[in-house]
Amino acid sequence: MLTGKKAFLLFLLASVVSLSGQTIMHHDSKITGMVNELSTNNLKATVQKLVGFGTRHSFSTNENETRGITAACKWVKGEFDKIAIATGGRFEAVWDTFTVNPEGRRILKKEQMINVIGRLKGNNKEDKRVFLVSGHIDSRNGSANDTKIDAPGANDDASGVALVVELARIMSKYNFPADIVFTVVSGEEQGLYGSTHIAEKAKEENWNIEAMLNNDMVGNSASSGNRIEDNIQVRVFSEGIPAFETDRMKRERIATSGENDSKSRQLARYIKEVGERYVDNIEVKLIYRSDRFLRGGDQSPFSRNGFTAVRLTEMNENFDRQHQNVREENGIKYGDVIESVDFEYVRKIAAINLAAIANANLAPGPPVNAAIEVREVANNTKIKWETPGGTAPDGYYVLMRETSSPVWQKKFFVKGNELMLPYSKDNYFFAVQSVDKEGHESLPVFPAIARN
Ligand SMILES: [Zn+2]
Repeated sequence: MLTGKKAFLLFLLASVVSLSGQTIMHHDSKITGMVNELSTNNLKATVQKLVGFGTRHSFSTNENETRGITAACKWVKGEFDKIAIATGGRFEAVWDTFTVNPEGRRILKKEQMINVIGRLKGNNKEDKRVFLVSGHIDSRNGSANDTKIDAPGANDDASGVALVVELARIMSKYNFPADIVFTVVSGEEQGLYGSTHIAEKAKEENWNIEAMLNNDMVGNSASSGNRIEDNIQVRVFSEGIPAFETDRMKRERIATSGENDSKSRQLARYIKEVGERYVDNIEVKLIYRSDRFLRGGDQSPFSRNGFTAVRLTEMNENFDRQHQNVREENGIKYGDVIESVDFEYVRKIAAINLAAIANANLAPGPPVNAAIEVREVANNTKIKWETPGGTAPDGYYVLMRETSSPVWQKKFFVKGNELMLPYSKDNYFFAVQSVDKEGHESLPVFPAIARN
């Protein structure tokens, strides 16, 4: 039985725990400045412009100058060209075309598709990392193969494209050590073709992609069916067991019980921590699956090609507003129209992308060959790692959490390349991240096992 005195002691203990759980927020004024520059008006103007092309179905090509996907892509390329001129060569705009072959379902004949890619070059030649943020420009109505009838796609996914264009506009004014690639892709609705094209090219050319953030439907805050209204939560989908897993990776995963510590999960946790540090009134929900039931997304081709990729999507979906012909039936309005996009929600999700990418890019590269020493049974933990190439870190954070906790709970700062902790490696998970003098942290690295 819990006596009054015991209950009081427990209460005291609980309040101490919650007090010690307070976190100190360190803001980099440069990142805060970029976040503050995000404009709901700009985001809305881009979505309005894209909706104005009537349909952006992947095969609504060459309709004319004001309708169809070619015209829409030309407009985005024009926006990227303006950025290229303003930055005096630091930003490059690429018109990327490719051919797709019929598969009898959503591609009925040989067709051409278009991606528009912007690349902001890093100013440190030693730094080979690449950060990639993506949205899809193609849209669809009630029929996946209808290229004629309007398909405004305001939320799916003009919202994601607007986010990408706005990030390019703002981030290109600043210098980053590593490259940032802004991709606006086609063919998502036909089977993730544009994204697959870029992911395969990236693999072929050995791009060192540190993180790929796919933004697909980031503006709907009113759900269908259950009448929930919510613009204070956003989902980040991340894969557990990597789609691309070698036998060696599998053995390591089993040996470390690392099924919840894939690179994709580390990225998702990082987006949560850094995003919530810089953006008010929004919570990042970690969704432990690669995507939703019956649906896919542009992060998947990157995962399949061995890259670290996640999907950001609104918390609740409105199925009356996606993949529908614009119409009214029995008093219910259908169609993906601009009136149902919540631009304050788009702004907050854009800010989360920006903060996470900026902070990781400004940070030194992640520690190399991080490993946990497992030579004998012991009630402590020794972790070691090597200094990454590029700008040397000021130090490292060793992160720790209980095996059942979704997020990191403790952080130890260390200057050297190893740390001995009086906590049993059997009872916690650990990771290591590099940190510079201003406090920018790299993505965390989950240690492998060192047996010697
Ligand atoms: Zn979509």
